[in-house]
Amino acid sequence: MNEEFQNHQIRDVIKINYKYTMGGQSKFFIELMNNKRLLGTKCIKCGKTWMPPRINCSDCYEPANWLELKQTGTIEVSTIVWYTTSAFIKAIPYGIGFIKLDGAETAFLQGIFSENLVPSKIKKGKRVKAVFNKKRDGKMTDFFFVPDVEYDNWISKPEYEGGV
Ligand SMILES: [Zn+2]
Repeated sequence: MNEEFQNHQIRDVIKINYKYTMGGQSKFFIELMNNKRLLGTKCIKCGKTWMPPRINCSDCYEPANWLELKQTGTIEVSTIVWYTTSAFIKAIPYGIGFIKLDGAETAFLQGIFSENLVPSKIKKGKRVKAVFNKKRDGKMTDFFFVPDVEYDNWISKPEYEGGV
């Protein structure tokens, strides 16, 4: 690229109707949507508890059974999001992080919301709790985490509610 190079950009819209399946992990999304339950899986051979759920253990490839996990957990790693897609732009700045739910041995990526967000509120080791949208579609965006000390504030908002 030389100094005279300039990207030519055209703003446009692509609209596509499509559907996709969650396959063997559908049960996770159905329980999330209908019952606000967070399901992981437990390997029948080695006993490792997976979250996100694995239909087969990723360590020993044996089948894994569903089990319900607690809705509290610990932040393993996190960052603050300042640039995002149109779907989340109203939420910035917000946190994302890998959360290890209590009872799980693996962590999964999820949003972490906090009022007056600063890095120290969502740093490694901080405790979080799941908050659910009242209107759920069976997607990962049906819930998010908040610092446990903010939980009561979040579930008192009209659009959100606590889990089971
Ligand atoms: Zn296993």
